[in-house]
Amino acid sequence: MRKKSFFVKTLGCKVNQVESAYILEKLNQEGFFLENEDKADILILNSCAVTEKADKEVYKILKKWLRFNPQLIVLAGCYSQKFSHTAYLFAKKFNMNNFLILGHREKFRISEILKEVLEKEKLKLPLVLVGDVFQDKICEPLFIHKFFGHSRAFVKVQDGCDNFCSYCIVPNVRGKPRSVSLENVLKQIEIFINEGYEEIVLTGIHLGKWGVDLNPPKKLTDLLIEIERFLKSFNKNFHLRLSSIEVKEIDKDFLEFLKNSNFIVPHFHIPLQSGSNKILKLMNRDYTKEEYLEVLNKLYEIFPHATFGADVIVGFPGEEERDFNETYKVIKESPLNWLHIFPFSSRPGTFAESLNPKVSPGEIEKRKKILKELIKEKRQKFLEKEIGKVRRILLEYFDKNTNMWKALSENYISNFVKIGKEFYFFPGKIVKVKFKELKGDYLIGEPLKNFQNKNI
Ligand code: SF4
Repeated sequence: MRKKSFFVKTLGCKVNQVESAYILEKLNQEGFFLENEDKADILILNSCAVTEKADKEVYKILKKWLRFNPQLIVLAGCYSQKFSHTAYLFAKKFNMNNFLILGHREKFRISEILKEVLEKEKLKLPLVLVGDVFQDKICEPLFIHKFFGHSRAFVKVQDGCDNFCSYCIVPNVRGKPRSVSLENVLKQIEIFINEGYEEIVLTGIHLGKWGVDLNPPKKLTDLLIEIERFLKSFNKNFHLRLSSIEVKEIDKDFLEFLKNSNFIVPHFHIPLQSGSNKILKLMNRDYTKEEYLEVLNKLYEIFPHATFGADVIVGFPGEEERDFNETYKVIKESPLNWLHIFPFSSRPGTFAESLNPKVSPGEIEKRKKILKELIKEKRQKFLEKEIGKVRRILLEYFDKNTNMWKALSENYISNFVKIGKEFYFFPGKIVKVKFKELKGDYLIGEPLKNFQNKNI
């Protein structure tokens, strides 16, 4: 059989990106090769279902792909795990006898399944291969070597969530919390370090639940302590970043670890969702705004120069103007300087789907705009304070338009660095710079003379 080409499109979170990188590497190993979207034999969509917008994106892409008429279209990921039947009906409507729908577990066997479909023509299409995610008891390690298009390496350490926040579909599509073992996490980190990566981003569907399913149970801090020890043994600079952590998971041990860590970077993403205790309760979030503020202030004392980011949902059912004003106040008074603002999206099968009264789309838009303005102002002030500061930054790519390197700082600031294309500068390298000026949302930095000195 002639070698087949493929293309992978990823929607959604960092975990999905890791899983796509795994699919890509696996298919490459099995003799498939990467091709552009409009020419590939096999088009694979690793989908997301977290919002209604993500659902719509799935069908927008599938309709576009129909025009390319590839040999095979594969729909995998969170959307197909939950809505395989709707996707199947779509395939029937458009006579897609080249359509394959894979669940989470099945997508990791993609090369095997593709061979059955393509070589042996054993499986009749369209076809749904989606298992019950609640039967999954372990989180298989996905060993990968390269992250195409990324200068940082994401390590998936965990899958699943059982918090059942009332608006969230994730527990239904990802199943129970499962952890990658400590040994396998360290093995993956070692692979990335050997490949030259200097920034490791720990990611999971609910990162703070790492270890709850292990025997004996462990905490994320236990994992972090071991990773810290492991990184130290290389005697060089690394950035260790956490993708997102819930406020209730930031306890004394975790704070103690942060204080003493050589590698953890000053960037914390701590979902807020709402600043109204009434709405937090309806959301089934297990903290109050007072607890949220207390934890953020503790972190701020240790890391006054950190980026503090949060997810916020505007227009949750029952969110009155005074609830929204409370959210506004919490954001204003907290150290938050970065926000992901989500308009409420009703997800089938969640408790929030049945909650009333709904907030009108016009009001949601208005509230979103107000928060956007607030955070823009706060971010600007934060960036201005960074001028003159020395920070470690990670080079991303050389930008021909500015003749500078585009980079991301330890404290999560996009910046440009005035250095050339010398051989010792390459994507993924950590360099120390002094921020000199602010241009729009970007800081401009210059490298220190001893930019490689580990002790600066
Ligand atoms: S913690 Fe809540 S919002 Fe986050 S994945 Fe779990 S259920 Fe969804």
